Amino acid sequence: MRIAGQVSIDDIPKICPLVSRAANPQYGERGTRVVDVAGVRFGGKRPIVIGGPCAVESHAQTVGLAHAVKRAGADMLRGGAYKPRTSPHDFQGSGLEGLCILSIAREETGLPIVTEVMDPRMVGQVAEVADMLQVGSRNMHNYALLAEVGRAGKPILLKRGMSASLCEWLGAAEYIAKQGNLDIVLCERGIRGFPSGEYSRYVLDLNVIPAAKMLTFLPVVVDPSHATGVSAMVEPASRAALEMGSHGLLIEVADLTFGEPKCDGLQAIDAATLARIVSFAREKTGVKNQESAVRSTEETKPTSALNATLALSS
Ligand code: PEP
Ligand code: MN
Repeated sequence: MRIAGQVSIDDIPKICPLVSRAANPQYGERGTRVVDVAGVRFGGKRPIVIGGPCAVESHAQTVGLAHAVKRAGADMLRGGAYKPRTSPHDFQGSGLEGLCILSIAREETGLPIVTEVMDPRMVGQVAEVADMLQVGSRNMHNYALLAEVGRAGKPILLKRGMSASLCEWLGAAEYIAKQGNLDIVLCERGIRGFPSGEYSRYVLDLNVIPAAKMLTFLPVVVDPSHATGVSAMVEPASRAALEMGSHGLLIEVADLTFGEPKCDGLQAIDAATLARIVSFAREKTGVKNQESAVRSTEETKPTSALNATLALSS
């Protein structure tokens, strides 16, 4: 029986010709497109670690954390100036002031910035400050926003919708790519599943990492903070993600001397834990990742074996 709208991973080359591995044989079976964000290379020789607050709350909090993230050895700073909140009555982010604070943090630390944009009308403003634009889980299906960020001339961190299939996630990447921007990093951030909320916030879908890497040449990173919602789970989840082949990590960090964070405090780790994560991520500067970096541009092996490898569809 065929059902309207139902797709399988076999359809990926047709649905997503721009980002599908099978439709781009120059990447071969394992090559990765290296996405360069102000000198930070996703999909390159080693996993990338991004750390920072959930939200930019104040100059002291964000700039202080930026220095701590830098000292911990991380590669980039994260922090939302615009926050997608369940309740419109909750803190929505510090907006333009938050963007200014992020640019000060970059100036002081040299860390490139990734920050979320939620509104197609704000893409220009956010792109003036951001080195990388984040499309959040709730907006992965916002096709107008995807097209607009695709035109912004900045690399994109595309989070997986919390209920999105792999096909839908890659379809969202295709919307960005269609605007001529292939500098896309995919970010798994946990999906809804039973018993979500009982002992963790979401379910970290580790299996999607190798699956996505088989279907696309785009780098794939993991956000263990939102995926677990529990600070004690972030370090082991980071290890697991790297073990499954993640090209990097996006992690929320807090420093309680600046007060309790206004959002997601329970999943934030401290700078000492971040430093440990950075150090084992560095140990992962191994064969697997080096191989993909070397192959990223000149791999020409045909991908016909790929579908056979992918028994996932059966
Ligand atoms: C975030 O990274 O701050 C965030 C809101 O994440 P997500 O879109 O994955 O919920
Ligand atoms: Mn958060």
